[in-house]
Amino acid sequence: MSKAAEQTSPWTARVLTLFPEMFPGPLGLSLAGKAMERGDWALEAIDIRGFATDKHRTVDDTPFGGGPGMVMRPDVVDAALAHATRDGPDGQWLAPAIYLTPRGRVLTQDLVKRLSAGPGMVVLCGRYEGLDERVIEARGLLEVSLGDFVLSGGEPAALALIDACVRLLPGVMGAEETLEEESFEAGLLEYPHYTRPADWCGRQVPDVLMSGHHEKIRAWRKLKAEETTRSRRPDLWAVYQERQARIGAKN
Ligand code: SAH
Repeated sequence: MSKAAEQTSPWTARVLTLFPEMFPGPLGLSLAGKAMERGDWALEAIDIRGFATDKHRTVDDTPFGGGPGMVMRPDVVDAALAHATRDGPDGQWLAPAIYLTPRGRVLTQDLVKRLSAGPGMVVLCGRYEGLDERVIEARGLLEVSLGDFVLSGGEPAALALIDACVRLLPGVMGAEETLEEESFEAGLLEYPHYTRPADWCGRQVPDVLMSGHHEKIRAWRKLKAEETTRSRRPDLWAVYQERQARIGAKN
C-alpha cells in the first residue's frame, strides 16, 4: 500500500452487477491494475442477486403495461444500493451513485474529472430492459450514458467509466503532461502523433516535427488540433470558439 492509501481509504468503485466475474477484468491489468495493486484505488464487485429474497433468487419481473423483456425489481436493487452506500461516517458513504443507461447524460471528461476528484462512486449496471424507474427516483441516481448506442448490459460501460476515472488519480499515469495535452483538455481533439521510423512505406513524418524548433512544433500541433476539431466535431468547435472569444474579450 502507498502512504496515501494507508492514511485514508483509497478512491473506490463499488459496482453492482449480475455478473461480478466480469470485474476487475481489463482493470486488473496495465496501469489501472498496477495502481490497484499499490492500493491507489479499490474495486468491489457486488452481486445484485445476493439481495434477492425468494428461493429462486429472482431479480427481475415482467413490465407493468406489457411489452417485451424483463425489468429489474426495485426492492432487490434498492437493497443492493443500501449495502453499497453503507459505511460512511454516519452510516452513509458519500459517493455519487450512478446508473448506467442509454437514457442518461452522455459521459464527458468534465464529469470523469469530478468523479475522480471525489471519494469514489457506486456504479449500477443494468441488464434486461433496465431498472424500475422508482428506485432511480428514490435513490436520486445519476443517470449516465456512454453514448447513443445500446449495450446488452451496463458492465462494459462501467469498465469504461472506471478506467477513465482511475487514470486521472494521482500517480496512476506516469507523466502529468500526458494528461494535460490530451483530447478534450483544452476543449479540442488532440493533434496527430508520429514515431520512428521517420520514413514508413514512403510516408514521411511532417518536417516541422523533425526541426527541433519547439515553438514551431507547438504552433503546428495547435493548428492540427483546431483543424481536426473543426472538421470532425462541429459541436466541440463551437464551444471552443465561444470560449476563445470570451478570453479574447477579457484581455
Ligand atoms: N431498454 C433499454 C436498453 C437496455 S440495455 C433502452 O432502450 O434504453 C440493458 C442495460 O445495458 C441497461 O440497463 C444499461 O445498464 C446498459 N446500457 C446499454 N446501453 C448503454 C449505454 N449506451 N450507456 C450506458 N449503459 C448502457
